[in-house]
Amino acid sequence: MSVPTPNPISTSNAKTRRVLVLGSTGSIGVQALEVIEHLNMLFEQGESSVRYQIVGLAGGSNAELLQSQAAQFAVRDVAICKGNDSLDQSRLNLRTGVDSARRLVEEVPCDLVVGAIVGFAGLDSVLSAIERGIDVALANKETLVAAGSLVIESARKSGARLLPVDSEHAGVWQCLQSISLDPYCPPMETPSGIDRVVLTASGGPFRSRTRQQIVGATLDDALNHPNWAMGAKVTIDSATLMNKALELIEAHWLFGLSADQLGAVIHPQSTVHAMIERSDRSVIAQLGAKDMKAPIQHALSFPARLAGCAPNLDVTQLGQLNFEPIDPDRFPAIGLAMRTIEAGGTAGAILNAANEQAVGAFIQGRLGFGRIDECVAQAMNELPIEPINTLDDVIAADTRAREFVDGLCAPSAGGVR
Ligand code: NAD
Ligand code: MG
Repeated sequence: MSVPTPNPISTSNAKTRRVLVLGSTGSIGVQALEVIEHLNMLFEQGESSVRYQIVGLAGGSNAELLQSQAAQFAVRDVAICKGNDSLDQSRLNLRTGVDSARRLVEEVPCDLVVGAIVGFAGLDSVLSAIERGIDVALANKETLVAAGSLVIESARKSGARLLPVDSEHAGVWQCLQSISLDPYCPPMETPSGIDRVVLTASGGPFRSRTRQQIVGATLDDALNHPNWAMGAKVTIDSATLMNKALELIEAHWLFGLSADQLGAVIHPQSTVHAMIERSDRSVIAQLGAKDMKAPIQHALSFPARLAGCAPNLDVTQLGQLNFEPIDPDRFPAIGLAMRTIEAGGTAGAILNAANEQAVGAFIQGRLGFGRIDECVAQAMNELPIEPINTLDDVIAADTRAREFVDGLCAPSAGGVR
């Protein structure tokens, strides 16, 4: 059977999309650059009308990789948070320091920002892009967890679109697109006729362990993810299932869903990324190979559907798909997410900051693995949850939660156990 070739796209509609990649030296950032190269190859072959021009790159501290990315993509405007000594500045328009990614957004005109910085550090640059009406392909879930109300309000005002990169949210988004003729895109109103949205979780390396075994896990155990190669923070979040907790809050903001419309299940094969249940009881699922390049490409090329660079999904090789409920005693993070969605205000900023601080302490050997979610729960129980009016309210809650967790990690408080 012959496969029809796609109609070549006339180059007379060709347009250039200028892109800033924030967090370009990380796992998602590097894959975003690969996807951009692939999309530009499709453009050269006449299969796409959009050429992507990378106009700026921001990284944390890997100067060597940033320099080589700048050379490869002929980028002059670059930002690095720290460790810029080895950068050859003669060829670069370099910004340095903790606010360098935000300054890149403010100073370099662009049409799309890839938000792939990890953690709260990614918030100010993403928010700045949204305030300017610039679309954001968003991987940095912590931005929405900590400051969802500000981000969504700002996107509604400016018209910026939030194009989900996280695979589960890319899954939900595609399920929702499949039931509408309009090119649906977050931030969205609560969709009508949807009873439930379910995100899947691989279960991480401790899926089948007892709570006692989980509590004593080492850093090597926690970094040994069965399905995905990702940055350290998201890998540890996947081991506590805090990653799924963050993603439930992310879904709440992106798709306007309430806590009782949201759920998560363990699905060890990571093949089904998300499911939506319609009120007539029909369930729509989105499936794909375990490869972040598919959701990254979907976000970058939306609403176009172009030949992909991720591997095909061969269901005959899968054998079976399994689904299990999440045990709330072994993985308390999911319950904390539901409480956070219901509480609103600074609850998300507290949960996120307490988690980031506890994960950092675990990586540094100052906190036991089992104390990570306990510290988050304690911060949520003991710190005041307040309304958010400005970014300063979020920053204040973030700072307070980090200080609180630092106190819990002090040797006198029994940090490592
Ligand atoms: P990573 O640790 O591999 O990369 C993080 C990037 O952020 C690096 O470029 C790093 O230099 C940069 N960075 C860190 N601190 C910074 C700072 N203060 N200022 C500027 N840049 C800074 O992380 P990752 O796995 O690529 O994840 C990035 C984001 O995407 C996270 O929010 C994560 O939850 C989300 N995400 C990742 C995956 C994945 O498969 N890796 C999947 C879904 C979502
Ligand atoms: Mg995810």
